[in-house]
Amino acid sequence: MARRLEPGSRLVIASHNRGKLREIADLLRPHAIEAVPAGDLGLPEPDETEPDFAGNARLKAMAAAQASGLPALSDDSGFCVAALGGAPGICSARWAGPQKDFAAAMARVEREMAASGNPDRRAWFIAALCLAWPGGHADLFEGRIDGTAVWPPRGTKGFGYDPMFVPDHATLTFGEMAPEEKHACNHRARAFALFAATALPPTG
Ligand code: IMP
Repeated sequence: MARRLEPGSRLVIASHNRGKLREIADLLRPHAIEAVPAGDLGLPEPDETEPDFAGNARLKAMAAAQASGLPALSDDSGFCVAALGGAPGICSARWAGPQKDFAAAMARVEREMAASGNPDRRAWFIAALCLAWPGGHADLFEGRIDGTAVWPPRGTKGFGYDPMFVPDHATLTFGEMAPEEKHACNHRARAFALFAATALPPTG
């Protein structure tokens, strides 16, 4: 059983990614929790040295909890393509380079899919959320959404690989959907629902 946050707790959001911070703030809004971005506390971004999403989420949350003395929630997530054996996966941010050029990262996905000769266009997003405590306790929550990689990219509303992903139940890409629609079903919201059920104060 995950350790539960008290109503009114301050929770460090161990991410410097604006798209993720916005989504997590939206998800936390109905709950009695004060979200504090790691950047506002001057916390550095640790290197992601683990081989999987869960390991990197744990590493980021533990570093933020230890440095701040507060509970910390991290998100490690990425875009995975069947024809590329799950790549870019944990390298999703790295494929965009230091300039965070996701148009180039999406073009690389499309180029490598064409070069693979595999016509399978199935793709998915994974999010691993980790809630870590200053004493070292940590709990993990994972969510996934399946869909199709489309080309060319469509829409300007989301972030990262959103413009080239159509979830299975939809026709619009995540980049074309209203934020509420994307947040209702995506990998992060699914992981968040597990987190909320056991680690947030009960609502109502
Ligand atoms: P990291 O978790 O900081 O390693 O970065 C994950 C990367 O995966 C982000 O920079 C995005 O490129 C991508 N990503 C994660 N979640 C999403 C999403 O909801 N939409 C689009 N791209 C995402």
